[in-house]
Amino acid sequence: MSAITSLDAPRATFRASPHPPGRVTPWRRILHGLPFVAAGALGLALSVAAWFAFWHRDGELARLEFESIAANKAGSLQNGLDQYLNKLVALRALFQSIDAVGREQFETFADQLVRDQTAILRVNWVPRVERDERIAYERAAAGDGVTDYQFKAVAEDERLSLSPERDEYFPIFYSTAPRGTHDLYGIDLGSPKRRPPLELARDNDRLGAAGNVMLHTGVGDRHGFFVVLPVYRRGLPHDNVEDRRRNLVGFIHAAFQIEALIESLLAATGSHGLDFHLFAYDAAPNALPVHSHVSPVDTTPIEWNTKAAVAAGPHWSGELRAGDARWALVMTPMSGGPAHAGYDRAWIVLVAGLLISAGAVAYMCASARHADRLVLANRKVSELARIDALTGLANRRAFLERLTAVFAQARRGREAFAVLYFDLDHFKDVNDTQGHPVGDELLRHVAERVKKIVRRTDLVARFGGDEFAVLEMDVAEFAGAGVLADKIGKALAAPYAIGANGVHITASIGIARFSETVADPEALLMQADLALYRAKEDGRNCFRFHSDELDWQVRERVTIAAELRQAVDRGELELYYQPQVELGSGRIVGLEALLRWNNARRGTVPPSIFIPIAERTGSILPIGQWAFDQACRQLRLWQDQRIAPAFVAVNCSALQFKALSELERTIADSLARWDISPQRMEIELTESVLMDVTQQQSGTLERLRELGLGIAIDDFGTGYSSLNYLTKYPVNRLKIAQELVFGVTTDSRNATVVRTAIRLAHELNIDFVAEGVENEAQMKFLIAAGCERAQGYYFSRPVDARHASELLRQGWIRPGKNSLRVVATTAA
Ligand code: C2E
Ligand code: MG
Ligand code: MG
Repeated sequence: MSAITSLDAPRATFRASPHPPGRVTPWRRILHGLPFVAAGALGLALSVAAWFAFWHRDGELARLEFESIAANKAGSLQNGLDQYLNKLVALRALFQSIDAVGREQFETFADQLVRDQTAILRVNWVPRVERDERIAYERAAAGDGVTDYQFKAVAEDERLSLSPERDEYFPIFYSTAPRGTHDLYGIDLGSPKRRPPLELARDNDRLGAAGNVMLHTGVGDRHGFFVVLPVYRRGLPHDNVEDRRRNLVGFIHAAFQIEALIESLLAATGSHGLDFHLFAYDAAPNALPVHSHVSPVDTTPIEWNTKAAVAAGPHWSGELRAGDARWALVMTPMSGGPAHAGYDRAWIVLVAGLLISAGAVAYMCASARHADRLVLANRKVSELARIDALTGLANRRAFLERLTAVFAQARRGREAFAVLYFDLDHFKDVNDTQGHPVGDELLRHVAERVKKIVRRTDLVARFGGDEFAVLEMDVAEFAGAGVLADKIGKALAAPYAIGANGVHITASIGIARFSETVADPEALLMQADLALYRAKEDGRNCFRFHSDELDWQVRERVTIAAELRQAVDRGELELYYQPQVELGSGRIVGLEALLRWNNARRGTVPPSIFIPIAERTGSILPIGQWAFDQACRQLRLWQDQRIAPAFVAVNCSALQFKALSELERTIADSLARWDISPQRMEIELTESVLMDVTQQQSGTLERLRELGLGIAIDDFGTGYSSLNYLTKYPVNRLKIAQELVFGVTTDSRNATVVRTAIRLAHELNIDFVAEGVENEAQMKFLIAAGCERAQGYYFSRPVDARHASELLRQGWIRPGKNSLRVVATTAA
């Protein structure tokens, strides 16, 4: 919130903002945070979407790759298996090329074929034996060193027993198994359990196989399968089934151990990151695999070892064939293997997306914080521009802004308000005598006191120096503002514990209240200023309201000041002269020159009206010059006419006296111009002017006195009580004030003061004149008191030069009977 709006929301003391910098309301915090939350949410959504897309794509790629690897792998497994089976074809070739293959011959050939082939458990020769050939075969085997050779039947439960009598036997006769007492020898594959694949192979002249059978290895039974390859009698046809049945000699028989077969195939070609599961071809879903080859980490495939479990995940399924035997081959990607879908990229994308989003949000936050800091700094700067550094109050600018705002509100019908404008009486004296630090401290105390008095809705400001203003809100009646002014006046008048001796000060207050007739805020301030001026004029330490009367007076003063500046040039000024007479004889001893202003419009304006204005505007300097020069000129005329009085007194105001060098030069010029002896002129100064005399001015005063110029103290007894200056300055006449003379016959204290003053003058050997003598009683009192000279209406009013000449020619005045008095009255 800007400082301007804070001024709209009134505060007793100047506060730039209702929320100090850094404090934010919850709602604003939420609003501030929204963009960041939105950016964060967007970043999160995009990251998740990208992650999902990559995840999906990676999964799809991995699936395709896996399927291609698996299909390849299935092909190479089938190839490997086919190569194994082809070895049997080579063995069959042996039987087809030789009429009678001996045991030794078979073993040598077969051993070579199956050497290092762990998958082929055994390779056997299974001859077709007629019922009557059985004994011969059993004997022949025994003769070859196969102990306990007998034809054995395989029962349903895989147990072996002596083969019953049959027309046809298919016993294992030769084998790569050691010849000793081995279970394998003599097993009759013609027994019903083993026979079907044999018949299939015989009839079709191709490989027959029996899947998933119990293999009798001699060192423990194992699951496996066996294949048989029919061998037909050499040179006889076996083109059709009858020929094949008739000419069948036997079978090349090989037992494969599935586990070893798969493992050896995989050892040769590699597993390529796949797990292998071989099931019976028509295995039920809950069937366990015939064999599984899994990666080392998945050595206990408890969950997925059923067919259903294996097929539940990503998998490839096909088959593995060995002749008629088929197995369902299911491959799954090895966990962590190359064919296993890796979602690293998806995760990298997600993490990168989240990091970028977090970075973006952090960047936004940082820039927002930076921007906030700039805004705060700017606000601080603009607030400082509106605060008075010394007191912490609003300054003039801030006050005017608020005044303008409430002015507009009052115009729109809001309750009226008042401006109290005040300054401290004689504050300059505090600064001059106690130093500026004390002055500053005093201003701070004043600010504190006023702040405590005003209401929260009011505004206190310091305009500079010792000038303060209060904006008092909601002032129903004009007089109401007087209550606050009174409080301020009393509060400020209480002593201050500052400096060595404490400080006492009072304030003068001017009050102006809003009304529809006031043009603008500046005009209102001007009114308060005028009222303050009036308070000063009325003796300070008081408050004054602005009024139309006051306005008129001020306007009048302004026009008088303007007209007065031209008065000398236009010849509107005139000197009147009032005689000073010797009380005993009525002889005229001197004249006081008194200014009159003859204005065409205003008539004759008395000095009590225009002299103070001339003093304030500075026109008193040319006017005073003119008056002294005019008095000299008149004296020259009187001297030439030989009717000149002993002296002519000219009044001199404070401002003239301050421009002493100018005064000195003016006096000297006029005296020289009119060839007047300095002894014939007197300057009248009031006590207060004398009190203000500085060291340098006192020197000038002495020089004037030494010239012979008279120095009179005008209005003696009304100014300062100190009489010290009488001893310090070369004064030669005291003029006791007419206020004192006026009461001598009615007020005994007045009489005492006048008597004392006369005695004092005598004692100090200073001439004494009583001013404002108006009647005989006063004159008699003065004579009795020892006063020798007087001036007043009783003798003569101030008269123009012509009448003064007449009086001078006459030389004396009979008190109370002066024929010129009537004339003089009109002039005054
Ligand atoms: P002031 O110097 O004390 O002059 C005496 C004033 O008392 C004169 O008023 C005079 O007319 C008046 N007065 C004389 N006798 C009587 C009396 O019996 N009764 C009453 N009531 N008044 C009497 P004025 O001429 O109006 O002058 C007023 C003041 O203006 C003078 O007081 C003086 O301070 C000032 N003034 C006059 N002329 C000049 C001037 O040329 N220069 C300066 N600086 N001030 C002047
Ligand atoms: Mg005078
Ligand atoms: Mg006087």
